[in-house]
Amino acid sequence: MTDEAFDVRTLLGPDGPIARRLPDFEVRPQQLAFSEAVADSLQHGRHLIAEAGTGTGKSFAYLLPAALHAEQHQGQGPVVISTRTIALQEQLEHKDLPFLHAVLPFEWSSVTAIGRNNYLCLRRMHQAEREQNLFEDPERHSQLRRIVEWSLSTNDGTRQDLEFPPRPEVWEAVQAEHGNCLNRACKHFNQCHWQRARRRMQTAQVLVVNHALYFADLALRIAGASYLPAHRVVIFDEAHHLARTATESLGLRIARSSVGWHLSRIHKRRSEKSLLAKYASPAGLLLWEEAHLLNEAFFDTLHERLRAGGTGEGVALHDQDVDEGLSPVLRALSNELATAAMRTEQVDAQMELQARANGLDSLCAMLRALCIPNPAAETPLVRWLEPSRKGAILCGAPLDVSATLRQHLFEGGATTVLTSATLATGNDDKFSWLRGQLGLDNASTLRVGSPFDYDRAVEFVIEEAMPDPAREAPSYRREVAERTERHVLDNGGRALILCTSWDFVRYLAQQLRAPLNAAGIEVLVQGEAPLSRLLEQKRELETSVLIGTDSLWEGIDVRGEALTLLVVTKLPFASPGHPLTQARMKAMKERGEDPFAGHSLPEAILKFRQGFGRLIRGGADQGKVVLMDPRVRTKGYGRKFVAALPFSDGYQPESC
Ligand code: SF4
Repeated sequence: MTDEAFDVRTLLGPDGPIARRLPDFEVRPQQLAFSEAVADSLQHGRHLIAEAGTGTGKSFAYLLPAALHAEQHQGQGPVVISTRTIALQEQLEHKDLPFLHAVLPFEWSSVTAIGRNNYLCLRRMHQAEREQNLFEDPERHSQLRRIVEWSLSTNDGTRQDLEFPPRPEVWEAVQAEHGNCLNRACKHFNQCHWQRARRRMQTAQVLVVNHALYFADLALRIAGASYLPAHRVVIFDEAHHLARTATESLGLRIARSSVGWHLSRIHKRRSEKSLLAKYASPAGLLLWEEAHLLNEAFFDTLHERLRAGGTGEGVALHDQDVDEGLSPVLRALSNELATAAMRTEQVDAQMELQARANGLDSLCAMLRALCIPNPAAETPLVRWLEPSRKGAILCGAPLDVSATLRQHLFEGGATTVLTSATLATGNDDKFSWLRGQLGLDNASTLRVGSPFDYDRAVEFVIEEAMPDPAREAPSYRREVAERTERHVLDNGGRALILCTSWDFVRYLAQQLRAPLNAAGIEVLVQGEAPLSRLLEQKRELETSVLIGTDSLWEGIDVRGEALTLLVVTKLPFASPGHPLTQARMKAMKERGEDPFAGHSLPEAILKFRQGFGRLIRGGADQGKVVLMDPRVRTKGYGRKFVAALPFSDGYQPESC
């Protein structure tokens, strides 16, 4: 057990191990307050919602009490840390956790969890190797050979450890899969990378996951299974994403390619080596052909329906049934595979056939849930057709995730800590909006501000004399382009321009590229290259300007002289046209609530705060924020956006 003297105050204090190791470490009261609140929450088993402003040193502040708690409660399951993205998970794994392991004066273990499909299954790999000509084209065949060679030297057997990105169908032939593992009966059990990873996960004291993995596990637990070990504590970083991630994880989506993918895993036209050709009866091949044709016809019909409904953001299905003749054929195909599995004596083939049959059964269940409304379900699905480049996607998501999260997460026995730099939608220290969305009724709350002096570091300007973006859209667009050009030229570039639609990103890029290039300023546009490359370029070419939407409003970190001007073109209200948003707003109206005040406004304020936070990323950063939306002055709700920013009380932005 840990010596009692090791508490977060000691560890984060001026004479603590962190201060001794980091020469420029500063004791930050905000960090200390936050860390102590997390420690208190874990100790007393009480949920905590804690907002910690940018620069607080949030990761250390929750990792420290997590490590202490894990060490003091060994054998009681890990402390789970859930980050928003795999990149943030890797940052903890490669940077923050190794540092803490080196400086903390006690032993503890931490493990990063990734999904099972990322691991190599040695049994399936050898089986694929034995199946001569499993892949008919030489490139795939060569990739399989390289995987076999790599399997002799890899330490962790994960796809990420491969030197080349394998083609999806090659990796799918060798990956570890749910329902396709012999466990102890497997002759590779002792060498199995996945089994080792699972054991490490089971015994880890701190387990780092990402939100998608955590909520996929929650969906499994609701269905009676699990992937992650049982745990009593979970800390969610970037917790403002939880409602969205839960909606996605508890929702369903099927595209033409999803059905095609299941079918391609059992057979390919004219193939004599496929599972179906080798093990099933001729009737199975006929069913496969029929399923293919029905899949094409079904998604063609959906696409027509989508087009007839005016594509936009999608077409709601309301309480209408969707006719589909696909699932009976898929079910028959599944039966054919299951029968073939029983007939064969080859264990590997049995496993493969049964796994594919189970996959088809799950697909049928999803199809039925999406095609036939079930208003009596515990959490009824909102169903809609969504456009994509390849046609219609059949989608469904819970109208409300709060009841499910209340029951299975917050009242499920684990203590949760929810943290982020932006959780409150204004001066609401109790986080009412967030708690309502998530179904978190009882929780301690804490808000600690940023250590940065925003009054000094930020010049905040509102362009007031602008046309209204909603009522005078064409002249508003022209004005934004002209004024943005002026601000960017005055600043010598070094800017980030945040838009609220892809259409506007393209418009601004077109308007600004020539004049800015003429001044020697490079224009980087989201969508024209991968975001990671654009960010690298932005940091390297300090005077460049980055224009983008959506994912640029949060999570990007450009420090110093590369970013001294932030232009926010419009208040970030989400489009109300999406069928799920419309269904949620309708439900609010039926409950007598105001959807604008209760949904659109708080969501936009939160996103505005995140966008604003892109400018100041370090104590030495300073610059200017220009807001081009006059509604912040002309509308009653406008002042709430300004009041939500981290300036001191009474702060007044400039107008021009
Ligand atoms: S134990 Fe399971 S995952 Fe591991 S090699 Fe065997 S079958 Fe594959």
